Amino acid sequence: MQGNPEFMKRAIDLAVENVTSGSGGPFGAVVVREGRVIATGVNEVTATNDPTAHAEVVAIRNACRQLKGFSLEGCTIYTSCEPCPMCLAAIYWARMERIYYSGTAADAAAAGFDDAFLYSEIKKDIGERTVPEQRMLAERGNESFDAWRKSGMRAEY
Ligand SMILES: [Zn+2]
Repeated sequence: MQGNPEFMKRAIDLAVENVTSGSGGPFGAVVVREGRVIATGVNEVTATNDPTAHAEVVAIRNACRQLKGFSLEGCTIYTSCEPCPMCLAAIYWARMERIYYSGTAADAAAAGFDDAFLYSEIKKDIGERTVPEQRMLAERGNESFDAWRKSGMRAEY
């Protein structure tokens, strides 16, 4: 399936404008469903002091707000650059069906945005990762899941 170049141009233009306006990092994303733009996003990390405010995450949040739901099933994301591991995971959590990107991870790395480190961390065993990760209060680790299983309120996602 071919992507629509108009949507990718929009993502790239948003990324460039975000830089030239001094608003934030060089990334933009567009969420499309049935040939229509649902929402857009730009990198807002420095603007909002939010390290998770990557363009794709911002676009997903805006799209979900627009559609009043947590699933973006049937939606496609056009992003100015290959998603980092966090954004890739967010795209999967949102159940989007396709990703189009323009710049590569190598292009981003050349501009100082290297996510190769994150991809390598994910492949490591827990004990070998840079940020120490340790289990504790294991005997209570299932309390919330038990409450969840008993709850009539649960929404599957
Ligand atoms: Zn990202």
